[in-house]
Amino acid sequence: MPSALCEKLSTLNSQLSNPQLSTLQLSTLNSPLSTLNVYSSLHDLLFPRLCSGCGQRLALDERYICGECSVQLPFETGHDWTSNRRMHQWADHMCLERIGALMRYEHDNVAAGIIRSLKYNRRFELGRWMGRMAVEHLADSGLFAGVDVLLPLPLTRARFRFRGFNQAEYIARGMAEVLGVPVLTRTLRRVVERESQTHFTHDQRLLNARHVFELQEADGLEGRHVMLVDDVMTTGTTLLGALEVVEQMPRVRISCFAWAWVMLSGASMARSRAGEHT
Ligand SMILES: [Zn+2]
Repeated sequence: MPSALCEKLSTLNSQLSNPQLSTLQLSTLNSPLSTLNVYSSLHDLLFPRLCSGCGQRLALDERYICGECSVQLPFETGHDWTSNRRMHQWADHMCLERIGALMRYEHDNVAAGIIRSLKYNRRFELGRWMGRMAVEHLADSGLFAGVDVLLPLPLTRARFRFRGFNQAEYIARGMAEVLGVPVLTRTLRRVVERESQTHFTHDQRLLNARHVFELQEADGLEGRHVMLVDDVMTTGTTLLGALEVVEQMPRVRISCFAWAWVMLSGASMARSRAGEHT
């Protein structure tokens, strides 16, 4: 391939993955007569961009997810962050302010597809987009009101080395771009990777969660409203483990956010107590 063409494709590649791409630039991309459009088409032919939700090829004017997936995004519609089932479940933690999520998680829905794509394909920019989308979509819901710092749940060192990045951190970084608050990445240390807990009882899971995290650097926590951030909340015991470490700081207030959560019905809460995974 001629070097000039390679260079233009490389430039185009960075433009297509640039989150700051302006509407004007995007409209240039869509102009059927532009030279850039020809290169865009060629680029997509050579390096097809895929939808993070379903894996299908994206059209030139689509980013991250296709049109079909975008209308199927399973947004959480109940915006009661202060007295939902999970808040009732953790009611004995007096520092807890709110628990919420952007999406409803089911193993085969679009939210699950996006999370898998983020986790296993090192899609850093996708994570930031997910975070920005969360804050923008829930701006009027009160979930993020008064939050001082974001604290993404860390991976163990071994898992971090294996995966190469922490997906929760990139979601938090996207949220921070909109909220204008710091992201703390050295506060918590994850010392144990949670093993499969499907055979654990509810009490055993809680006991296990309490030994997963350690406080590494406590600077910037005292008296602050800390939001713990994770990609998915299932039973919630991982977030609870982090909460129980952070709540040791004086006068701290804590909220929990997951990009997607498994809905807790009365039946699933009962199963959770009985030891089944939800
Ligand atoms: Zn799709």
